[in-house]
Amino acid sequence: LKNEKNNKPTIGKSGEFGFIEKIRSAMKTKNPSVVLGIGDDAAIFKPTLGHELIFTTDMLVEDRHFDFKWITPWQLGAKTMAVNVSDCAAMGAKPTVALVSLGVPKNFPVPDLEAFYDGLKQWGESYGAQIVGGDTVGSDKFVVNVALVGEVEKGKALKRSGAQAGDALFVTGNLGDSAAGLHALQHPSAKGKEAAPLLIKKHLTPVPRFTVGRALSTQKMATSAIDISDGLSSEIHHLCEESGVGAEIHEEALPFSEALIHYCDENQLDPLPFVLHGGEDYELLFTVPLAKISEVIQKLPGETGVAVKSIGRMVPKSKGITLITRKGQRIPLEAKGYDHFTAKDKA
Ligand SMILES: [Mg+2]
Repeated sequence: LKNEKNNKPTIGKSGEFGFIEKIRSAMKTKNPSVVLGIGDDAAIFKPTLGHELIFTTDMLVEDRHFDFKWITPWQLGAKTMAVNVSDCAAMGAKPTVALVSLGVPKNFPVPDLEAFYDGLKQWGESYGAQIVGGDTVGSDKFVVNVALVGEVEKGKALKRSGAQAGDALFVTGNLGDSAAGLHALQHPSAKGKEAAPLLIKKHLTPVPRFTVGRALSTQKMATSAIDISDGLSSEIHHLCEESGVGAEIHEEALPFSEALIHYCDENQLDPLPFVLHGGEDYELLFTVPLAKISEVIQKLPGETGVAVKSIGRMVPKSKGITLITRKGQRIPLEAKGYDHFTAKDKA
């Protein structure tokens, strides 16, 4: 992106129709399941035989969920698609088509809007999602809503509700990096300059765990799954609530990245709250029956290229949701969300 914001044509001046025509030609569909793409009153999509459709949507509002001080329009497009693909992955489904609705301020530069769509399109296509329509309206702030449709083999969708007491609890990747990245963006004078770019990257362009979700659903390795958008402590409560079970999580088993440890050391921060409560990691949290544990540990990382770690187990509901500390103390794990970190994000 160039820094000549004032000289760029704005959406207010170039008009909506010209822009829609541009988007329409940029979004030409290649997916044979899309019978009719952008341009009619509605799009037409032909579902694959033997599959079920899943629907998910996510809305992001400027200054509440993102700040153009930190994120480029291209990155915002990529991230908006990624968070929807993450929900799709948590269901074990393949993304198919997406609808994109925008609220755009009058003075928003056209090249920035093109970059935004470019990010959306590139990330969508890399997971098989085609943009087939949407709506654009004028707005005081930039608002984006993506509605994503996915497909999953009949009966194989991963739900939050299937966990059983005795199942092992697994998580992909590392936790806390995204929230620490946000901390680094909000504290430009913080130390740990070697680690910060890695953490910031995880915050601005999270990678959804699509291959893991697909492997778990098609190979029936998980009894339940959820993606971590609000932090581990919140998501484990959602999973336990829907499944009617409790959970024990071992602090010493939680996956911390080297970057997070370094950044927290340098700034005298405790990494544990980032790992437990930090939002927007978009890792998958899933439960595995005893008989499948060795398969998950031995096969899944090789097949998907994603590290997985067992962090605890599911227990009867009456035992609640517990964190077992490094010293062996058992403490109730309370749900603390993203708000815990950013006062600005409070609704
Ligand atoms: Mg989710």
